[in-house]
Amino acid sequence: MTSTIGSDHTLVTVNLPDGVRCAIAMTYDTDMAGGYAPDGVCHGRTMPAIKEYILRLCDTAEDFGDRLHFFQIGNGLEATEDVSYLQEVLDRGHDLDQHTYSHVGLNTEDLALLDRELSRTNELFAERLGHESIVLRGPGGYENGLRGKPANQRIVLDNGFRWVSCEFNFRATADDYEQTISGPAENQPYAYDTGLVELPIMSLTVRTFFDTVMNVDRPAYEAWCAESGHRPLPDDWSKAPWTADEALDAWIDYNLRVADFCYENGLLWVVCWHPYSHYVHDPGNEALPALLQWAADRDDAIICTLRDAVEWIEEP
Ligand SMILES: [Zn+2]
Repeated sequence: MTSTIGSDHTLVTVNLPDGVRCAIAMTYDTDMAGGYAPDGVCHGRTMPAIKEYILRLCDTAEDFGDRLHFFQIGNGLEATEDVSYLQEVLDRGHDLDQHTYSHVGLNTEDLALLDRELSRTNELFAERLGHESIVLRGPGGYENGLRGKPANQRIVLDNGFRWVSCEFNFRATADDYEQTISGPAENQPYAYDTGLVELPIMSLTVRTFFDTVMNVDRPAYEAWCAESGHRPLPDDWSKAPWTADEALDAWIDYNLRVADFCYENGLLWVVCWHPYSHYVHDPGNEALPALLQWAADRDDAIICTLRDAVEWIEEP
């Protein structure tokens, strides 16, 4: 069963496994976010503290018998870079896919650049990790995904990807973020006319939540980025000084409420989190176990990856 929802894309059917009424695809973009960088540049040369945090997330998932899905940018895979933490992620059974070479938007007008970014990162995945990427996460997120951009879609397809996750609709503010709890109902997977399948990011990302919605002191945020961004946090760090006091509790509550919504409505939910943002805002790693425990408490709710989810999508 399919239904047309626009002139150039068609909703696809997601058949969750038997006995499952809600599946939560846990994805993380591993980059050193440009929004925290003194020079505003996003890159994949992950600092040791974030490598440790990534492996800690894997520990937590494994405690629950779950797997996570990480998206890595290619410039962190060059020969000069240590990739042992990514090899460990793979060896421990988690999923890893690409996020372009330098964090370029998939909706770029520079099609030759997009082609180079994807093909070079595919080469690096093969050379450094002996691994093939089949699902693509788009950097930044775009309100309309790649709708109206068939040439971009074809470059994505020509680089070996049938599935992309790049649509992100939520420009929430502190006053309206609760409206996004129902996002998974409005942002289910669809096929572009080229056959490429989109799995939108369906809820607020951790960066949007803490650094925009819960950001009550922009000057403090900007000062911290300029002086301390992309550096290890001090040992006594417990909370970012620019966020509201209750930000972490509100983040956990928000995610559990999205989970409840998906459970009530029988939905796949694509989550997009970032290890760096959690390292800054959730240094004690409280959010992931809270969500995994929510799923563990329900016989018919599961944690999955996007590689799992694409298997459940009916061919468009
Ligand atoms: Zn990213």
